[in-house]
Amino acid sequence: MKNNTSFNHIYIESHLMEHPKTKLILERLQHTGEISQFDNIHTLIKSSHQVYHPSDRSKNLVLSSIRGEILRKCPGTHGHICCNYHVINQYIGCPVNCAYCILQGYLNQPFTIINVDIENILETLSTVSVKNQNEILRIGTGELGDSLVYDHLTDFSLDFIQFFKNRREFMFEFKTKTNNIDNLLKEPNPGNIVIGFSMNPESLTVKLESDAATIDERINAASLLVEKGYKISLHFDPILNIPNFRDEYNSLIQKIFSRISHNDIAWISMGTFRYTNDLKSMIEYNYPESGLLSDDFVLTADGKYRYFRPVRTALYKAVKESLTAINPDMPMYLCMESPEVWRSVLGTTPGCSAKMDFLFKKRGIIK
Ligand code: SF4
Repeated sequence: MKNNTSFNHIYIESHLMEHPKTKLILERLQHTGEISQFDNIHTLIKSSHQVYHPSDRSKNLVLSSIRGEILRKCPGTHGHICCNYHVINQYIGCPVNCAYCILQGYLNQPFTIINVDIENILETLSTVSVKNQNEILRIGTGELGDSLVYDHLTDFSLDFIQFFKNRREFMFEFKTKTNNIDNLLKEPNPGNIVIGFSMNPESLTVKLESDAATIDERINAASLLVEKGYKISLHFDPILNIPNFRDEYNSLIQKIFSRISHNDIAWISMGTFRYTNDLKSMIEYNYPESGLLSDDFVLTADGKYRYFRPVRTALYKAVKESLTAINPDMPMYLCMESPEVWRSVLGTTPGCSAKMDFLFKKRGIIK
């Protein structure tokens, strides 16, 4: 995968012009185009031309400071069990160009944002106390962008590893579809860092994830990280109802576990394709040839459209069967699914979201 090193236009929040991360990013870019300063990001957004395609959004870069609540509970979704995960919006926008990406329906700014003030993020994290000694807080940066896609410009991974090194009450996950792992390979895993790779059969990645690393590149990256002592998480999300899905997902799983052991897995999530009305319009506009919407969907309790429940259940069961054939005790969970589907696929529900951690405790990921 080729790392992104050029932008048409860079906008820098005035007070961050001399920030060390701003300087580092500018130093590492091959082509910066025009550089402008701004004082208020809302004014900047209002005065910019709207763009709709993710690849247009990623041509322009904003270096700004993080706003709002820095550490947020993953929003989850009404009527569905969430996995009690916390997120930091370090990046807002993503150049990986996945046709199904939910961000198309969320984001209204015509550029990618990197929040460079890592010191504010780390300061907030250092004030977060985990009340119950038996609890552990799972945190990630991959909700509004890919956690590693700009790491060659920012070195944020090194900052996070350094910060979490002696903080056992946290489990931190970098979630990615890249193989941009050079920084991670410089540091041995302090024990509480997990690298998550989103996985889909090759027939889908070629068609729907045009600027991501190939599956072979992702598996190779995972295997190098395992050698360095990292645990790996796998995200089969979105699982798509493709012809031959059983064989396609089984081949993918065989391929992954021919290179890494089930003992190196921290957790595995599964989620089937879902969309809002906004995302539907954006897929029709941006990726009309994707075929993503040519199936039957049902409106569910949280206002999202999903495959009908029997279809979702069959997809999950197929993936689960391939995984449990490798090892019966894989730490799996479903992402934003109903209790009924949980029960029919995994034979149980965590009861409430807060109890999701039992899965990870069982695996010894959380003590
Ligand atoms: S990698 Fe994730 S955030 Fe980036 S485009 Fe794909 S789905 Fe969206």
